Formats: sequence, C-alpha cells, structure tokens
Amino acid sequence: MKDCIFCKIINGSEKSLKVFENKHTIAFAPNPNTIISKRHLIIAPKKHYENIYDIPENELFNIVKTTKFISQKLKSRFNADGVNILHASGEVAQQSVFHFHLHLVPRYFDDNVDVWPDTGYREDNFPNISLEM
Ligand SMILES: [Zn+2]
Repeated sequence: MKDCIFCKIINGSEKSLKVFENKHTIAFAPNPNTIISKRHLIIAPKKHYENIYDIPENELFNIVKTTKFISQKLKSRFNADGVNILHASGEVAQQSVFHFHLHLVPRYFDDNVDVWPDTGYREDNFPNISLEM
C-alpha cells in the first residue's frame, strides 16, 4: 500500500533497523519512541493486511513461525528471561500502524516493564459465552 510505513520499510524506501527477513515475513526495530524493552521487535508479513480480521491463516502461521524463531534467538543469544507477544487490531485497541504486526517484547527480570496493569476488572466481566468453529 502506497502510504503504509511498514510497506515502505519492506520495499526499502523507508529506513529501519531490519534484523530478520525471509520470503514471507520481516522483523525490525520499532519507532524509537515506542520501544517497550531492550531488543523489542516488530514482526510483520511482507504483504499488506490491515489486522487480525483480514489476514489469512497461512500468513498468520508464517508470522507465528518467525516469532518463535526470533524468540528462541533472543533467549539463546541475548539472554532474554522471557517474552511478551503483543498485538493490536483496531483503533480502540491502540493499533497505530494499520499493517498487521506483532510486537515481540523480550523480557528481563530487571526491566521494570508491566504489560498487565491491574485494570480493576474481575471474573464477572466475561459472562456466559461459548464459541464453536
Ligand atoms: Zn503495509
């Protein structure tokens, strides 16, 4: 897509710190103003999909495969103690770039990051619901 910043990063017309690339996916450092932890990365499909609602399952599989590969590298080469995988679909979910992506956030015991703040919601906020495929 013409005006998509991630498409520009993928086609090389926008600079980025690219750390991994294969046929279907790319991983690069986020905008410095949005970094959550040391070595925080964005994993995105090379094709433009807006969000979880329009990305095909096979593309999602490619993303998850790359995410697992990089997570293992962050642990073995950079001593990450754990990892958070974050995603936003939709403006209400604070999605700011409308090209599907996951945030891979390496975690360290001393990083002082809290990605699960207590919102005050308790178990009664999920009434009877059952889903079938
Ligand atoms: Zn795009």
